[in-house]
Amino acid sequence: MRFIKFKNSDEKVPIGKLVCVGRNYAAHAKELGGEVPEFPIIFLKPASNVIYSCESVVHPAHSKNLQHEVELVLYIGEDIKGGNDEAAARAIHGYSIGLDMTLRDLQFEFKAKGDPWTLAKCFDSAAVLTDVVLKKDYQLKGDENISLSVNGTVRQNSSIKNMIFSPVEIVKFISARMTLEKGDLIFTGTPEGVGRVVQGDKIEATLENIGMITTQIE
Ligand code: ZN
Repeated sequence: MRFIKFKNSDEKVPIGKLVCVGRNYAAHAKELGGEVPEFPIIFLKPASNVIYSCESVVHPAHSKNLQHEVELVLYIGEDIKGGNDEAAARAIHGYSIGLDMTLRDLQFEFKAKGDPWTLAKCFDSAAVLTDVVLKKDYQLKGDENISLSVNGTVRQNSSIKNMIFSPVEIVKFISARMTLEKGDLIFTGTPEGVGRVVQGDKIEATLENIGMITTQIE
């Protein structure tokens, strides 16, 4: 079982499901050749895919195009089903930064065939996390910088203000369709600049005022 780690709290919360949003930055939708979506595109990852900052991402042997996606992560701290804006805002108890590691070659193959993307998004170490910062310690301003570099070269550098759907809109949308529970984490989509990484590469990712992830590919 994987547990959420918190900054300034010893509470032990098991990780529930990871709910991820696809194409939530217009410039990233464009670089993947997709349209800007009318509603959030949702997919899941299992909790067993989670590793923490300073652990290594293990490159799956069945892919030749492992890619990084840096994202704002929302921590759901109370159950919510079909909530309004206020309930959605209340259900978000904190924030983190995450890497949604993706097997892009498999994803394009699955998309072309109209098959589910599951195996392009789910594999051991496909979700990299760090400590959750609780809202009592930091209120998100909404224009924090989000960036990622590989071997010291900046690849992704944007602001979370460029998100198409806001955290509250995302939680409201998902909770109208499935119950979100305490311990669930929401990956809110990645800005442009996604790219391939290979064994030996070192990734460093930062979300301003929230945290930092370092990992390497093995
Ligand atoms: Zn993503």
